[in-house]
Amino acid sequence: MFINAVCVLMGAVQGTIYFSQANPDGSVTVTGTITGLTEGSHGFHVHEFGDTTNGCFSVGSHYNPFGVTHGAPEDENRHAGDLSNIVANADVVAAVRIEDSVISLRGENSIIGRSLVVSGRKDDLGRGGNEGSLKTGNAGSALACCVIGIAK
Ligand SMILES: [Zn+2]
Repeated sequence: MFINAVCVLMGAVQGTIYFSQANPDGSVTVTGTITGLTEGSHGFHVHEFGDTTNGCFSVGSHYNPFGVTHGAPEDENRHAGDLSNIVANADVVAAVRIEDSVISLRGENSIIGRSLVVSGRKDDLGRGGNEGSLKTGNAGSALACCVIGIAK
């Protein structure tokens, strides 16, 4: 049975991101369109908390239930929330199409109720050769964030 979730970005950066998972042990498909970004790559991560009391400052770090270092989606060592980058084209529109087998919409490590963050800079995927790279990919501060909620 499918479980669906959605996250709506509002403000200067806008978009609706859909999450769908067919099977408990299966991958999650992440799709959507985001507008209002500067052209180029922007870090795209699930963060620990769905708490936007203080905007994107209160959503915590990259969701990391296994206590490992930051990385690329295909890396063995990566935060569960590490979804790499989205890329905005010259019309500053980013089309999102990600298939990820680490995040889940079920169970104790579900990302529902957590948040999705679009960063100002490119995620270096842990290859930056410095401490920040292994923590956040040097993706800079959040441009926008939204809480991931259950959808129909
Ligand atoms: Zn990370």
